[in-house]
Amino acid sequence: MNVQEARLREPVAEKTSEPFFIDRSSFPQRTASVATAAATEAEEVDRDARFPKAAIDAARQQRLLGVQIPQRFGGDGAPISDVTEMCYTLGRACASAAMIFAMHQTKVACLVRHGTGSKWHEALMRRVASEQMLLASSTTEGQNGGNIRFSTAAVERTDAEISLTRNATVISYGAQADGIVSIARRANDAAGSDQVLLAMTRDDYTLEKSLEWETLGMRGTCSAGFELKFKGSAEQIFPEGYDKIHAQTMTPVAHLCWSSAWAGIAAAAVDRAQAFIRKAARGSGGQMPPGAAHYTAAKMTLTKLRAMITASLDVYMAHEHDERALSSLDFQSQINLLKVEASELAVETVMNAMRACGLSGYRNDGDFSVGRHLRDVLSAPIMINNDRILANIATASLMSVVPASLRD
Ligand SMILES: Cc1cc2nc3c(=O)[nH]c(=O)nc-3n(C[C@H](O)[C@H](O)[C@H](O)COP(=O)(O)OP(=O)(O)OC[C@H]3O[C@@H](n4cnc5c(N)ncnc54)[C@H](O)[C@@H]3O)c2cc1C
Repeated sequence: MNVQEARLREPVAEKTSEPFFIDRSSFPQRTASVATAAATEAEEVDRDARFPKAAIDAARQQRLLGVQIPQRFGGDGAPISDVTEMCYTLGRACASAAMIFAMHQTKVACLVRHGTGSKWHEALMRRVASEQMLLASSTTEGQNGGNIRFSTAAVERTDAEISLTRNATVISYGAQADGIVSIARRANDAAGSDQVLLAMTRDDYTLEKSLEWETLGMRGTCSAGFELKFKGSAEQIFPEGYDKIHAQTMTPVAHLCWSSAWAGIAAAAVDRAQAFIRKAARGSGGQMPPGAAHYTAAKMTLTKLRAMITASLDVYMAHEHDERALSSLDFQSQINLLKVEASELAVETVMNAMRACGLSGYRNDGDFSVGRHLRDVLSAPIMINNDRILANIATASLMSVVPASLRD
């Protein structure tokens, strides 16, 4: 057994309520099969701004949509480290498929972490695993941009029934999803920051398109705007307030999964730059082309990006079940800064790859084109704008101490 295989058999279930060892040995091969399907349609998905159907069908076939669901509810109980690896692998094949997978897995993580113990949410977990349901996310509302910790639309209650009407400015793959996980104001008389998270399935809601998705990149995410109208039961509201879910799961898992998908896009661009430099060197008797330094820079920024993601991943996994540690200023700053830094580094890496390839990278045709990668990765800094995140954590950063040692 090599190191990679040994790591796939580590007892990750120790700290969770999973009863047995989780056999993760099939994950790489199952993911590779989805990546192959994703790569085959990536160009068409981008050109036509269409949903990556073959990739998501393959993810269903490989039962990856329910991979995080605990074994007792029919899933594999995969830890976040495996899910991020999947996002990276898919990012190398098709950015939109990877981002859809990353967003779905973030919703599933909320369900697993904060729905366990609630009959309704446990039943949904079973359905996600058995039916391989695809879950979308609704956080953006009206003109509120990426201000997720404030909701306008409120849950209306009539006895055990609830309803919600939401001006959802962006819901990626809203038209294709089997369910939506949405934030909302707790009640009509609640403050905008007093929020709940609720899960809804296809039969509970209608979507009326309010805005098309004609964008520079991430075109296959089909992130149109909708009016979301929901009617359901009060049980669909997660038992814990959204403030806790946001800090402990939604933000960390979203930032880890998104960053991994962006790192995958960056890696795909580096692949192309490497192929270009190799071909150019071969063509000139081993002489390095002038753009080689940009290729080295691309490798360097990719290394930095991967290191940053895995460092945050390790910290998150070490404290995954420690509410206090996850709510600490230090952790919250680190996980928010991960999104900012990873998105900037991913763009920088793809730019370096583009400059290494020169005109061959700039062209939209040919084997070394990185145009699609650049357009896709440019969504990273604006997906919850980096400026907003930096402004939000300015006070917290002031209060946290400057580390006295390297490993503090
Ligand atoms: C590919 C993609 C997929 C998405 N999918 C979904 C989805 O499925 N569901 C969903 O709900 N949302 C989705 N979103 C939306 C996303 O979650 C954010 O809501 C959105 O990116 C916010 O964009 P914005 O620029 O309109 O808003 P804002 O965040 O308001 O930014 C607007 C401008 O204001 C500036 N700004 C904002 N706040 C500050 C501040 N405090 N200090 C300084 N400057 C500031 C920003 O720099 C920016 O220039 C998606 C976005 C992308 C790119």
